[in-house]
Amino acid sequence: MNPHSVNADLHCHSTVSDGTLSPEEVAALAKAGKVGLWALTDHDELGGQARAAAAAQAQGMRYVSGVEISVTWANRTVHVVGLAVDPGHPILVDGLASIRTGRQARARTMGDKLAALGIQGAYEGALRFVSNPDLISRTHFARYLVECGAACSTQDVFKRFLAEGKPGYVAHRWAALGDAMEWIRASGGTAVIAHPGRYQYTDLEFSALFDEFRARGGEAIEVITGSHTPDQFVEYADVARHYGFRASRGSDFHGLDDGRHMPGTLPDLPTDLVPVWTDWL
Ligand code: AMP
Ligand code: MN
Ligand code: MN
Ligand code: MN
Repeated sequence: MNPHSVNADLHCHSTVSDGTLSPEEVAALAKAGKVGLWALTDHDELGGQARAAAAAQAQGMRYVSGVEISVTWANRTVHVVGLAVDPGHPILVDGLASIRTGRQARARTMGDKLAALGIQGAYEGALRFVSNPDLISRTHFARYLVECGAACSTQDVFKRFLAEGKPGYVAHRWAALGDAMEWIRASGGTAVIAHPGRYQYTDLEFSALFDEFRARGGEAIEVITGSHTPDQFVEYADVARHYGFRASRGSDFHGLDDGRHMPGTLPDLPTDLVPVWTDWL
């Protein structure tokens, strides 16, 4: 089968992390978006994988297991997607558990910082949007800040309060790149750099990141993602060519109300790139 003829969406979130819909609901939307190969890639958590795989099967879609791992590299956060991992592998499961533990303390500190800015009760407010308390994230704070009128949209929240360098931001040390890649490799998976266009690195840092990622066995980057602009589709297609990376495609869907792309609706990969899913059909 020509992998380019498959509508793959290999980056989506559910209520298992910071999405607003269940794995089954996201599967139904992927099917509605004519997705043929799907992966649920919740942040730092594999708890939705069995449900997602079953829902994909019920919808008649191929499924590949996934997770989006939070990594700290050069003092900034990078997301590395692990695809086709074994969701029960103890090295991966334990590694992810180790980076989830800090989220509650960080969230309380975020609540304190927001209170100092005059926004009371943000921690408790964010918790109301959380299904899995271990995975409380800035996204949940953003939903509360919009609800209480402190900001007019999620984008507005990040721009004014929660993006790096803004007054409600709390830095956190996630997994080391080498550890995250070791967990993915140990569980038989493929490592993909998520939405590279989102990171605020210098050119020098970007080449060091891509070199290190490749040296550690990294195979692919996201080229077509809901987190890239059309200009970045072109820019990161060139990066994939330059480094010999395979290319991935995914909506980064989080829910119906966040203004992002629906599963399966992004442009196709450029046909000269090798899709990361080539060997999974
Ligand atoms: P955390 O893991 O708690 O740092 O939260 C990161 C999550 O916040 C990401 O997975 C996105 O879902 C969301 N996020 C980060 N930056 C933005 C942004 N500029 N606009 C909307 N959502 C964002
Ligand atoms: Mn997210
Ligand atoms: Mn991400
Ligand atoms: Mn994501």
